[in-house]
Amino acid sequence: MNRKVIIIGSGPAGLTAAIYSARANLEPLVFEGNQPGGQLTITTDVENYPGFPEGISGPELMDKMREQAKRFGAECAFKHVTKVDFSKRPFKVWIGDDLYTSDTVIVSTGATAKMLGLDSEKNLMGYGVSACATCDGFFYRDQKVLVVGGGDSAIEEAVFLTKFASEVWIVHRREELRASKIMRKRAEDNPKVHFHWNSTIKEILGTKESGVTGVVLIDTQTGESREDSCDGVFMAIGHTPNTSLFTDILDMDDKGYLITQSDSSYTNIPGVFACGDVQDHTYRQAITAAGSGCQAAIDAERYLEFQE
Ligand code: NAP
Repeated sequence: MNRKVIIIGSGPAGLTAAIYSARANLEPLVFEGNQPGGQLTITTDVENYPGFPEGISGPELMDKMREQAKRFGAECAFKHVTKVDFSKRPFKVWIGDDLYTSDTVIVSTGATAKMLGLDSEKNLMGYGVSACATCDGFFYRDQKVLVVGGGDSAIEEAVFLTKFASEVWIVHRREELRASKIMRKRAEDNPKVHFHWNSTIKEILGTKESGVTGVVLIDTQTGESREDSCDGVFMAIGHTPNTSLFTDILDMDDKGYLITQSDSSYTNIPGVFACGDVQDHTYRQAITAAGSGCQAAIDAERYLEFQE
């Protein structure tokens, strides 16, 4: 059966696009991918999403969005898209050997925070390890936290965290920041920001019960290791947009983010729309992703009306 709308990805952007397109009677099919619910499912409490004055857990927020979409007729499948062909309409989307077709496609495959790849980092994700200071910084009032990375994101996160934390230590693998001059100055001028130069993290210490209690650092020049105590570790070593599926198909910037036409979710292919973190490396918030998902659904609806 040919669909009117297929949505690839199920974070706040994809599921909001599903809610809006379902309410427009477009019966969207959502392929949720390998991480149903997206990045919010690896955070704990979300306290900045409007409408939840007491906060809500990331997984619960995403479950509610999915329920809301299904209530209006969206079909959600825990399946991972393996190939697409957008060369002509209807567009083709494959899950392995199974082919699906659709008049429009909304791409909301998100981005993935780069991680160091340590077992302890994986175990303590959401228990003191975070990749989002805006989401989790509030929980570190008067505590000591580490931020890993030396780019603009690391500095931005570190300076943001000084609003809550008593000390913020930037762990950078070199002795010169990659961040822009203005951001560097902002960090250097902040009395709460300190640096572990030429350092990487070998292990994050703690348990799910205790939370993070410290780290083992390695000096990248001498190879020596040392321990440092802390209450939280924020990863800020960059994000990777999940766009490998669309290489040579959709226009991307030099970092691989999809390019949308200004003030819309239109990609370079009419009928294919993009929303959320896959096309936004600036704001990267659940609420901005949800807003752009709404835009994509409305763009798809108007596009379909125009085709009829
Ligand atoms: P980025 O510029 O790629 O910086 C990543 C940082 O993480 C680098 O310092 C890098 O170290 C370090 N790193 C990468 N992999 C690592 C690993 N495995 N172990 C330890 N350290 C590692 O990423 P970003 O800071 O997220 O910024 C992305 C883009 O967004 C940039 O263009 C940035 O200017 C922009 N941005 C702008 C603002 C702003 O202007 N307000 C805020 C945020 C982001 P090396 O330096 O040694 O490579």
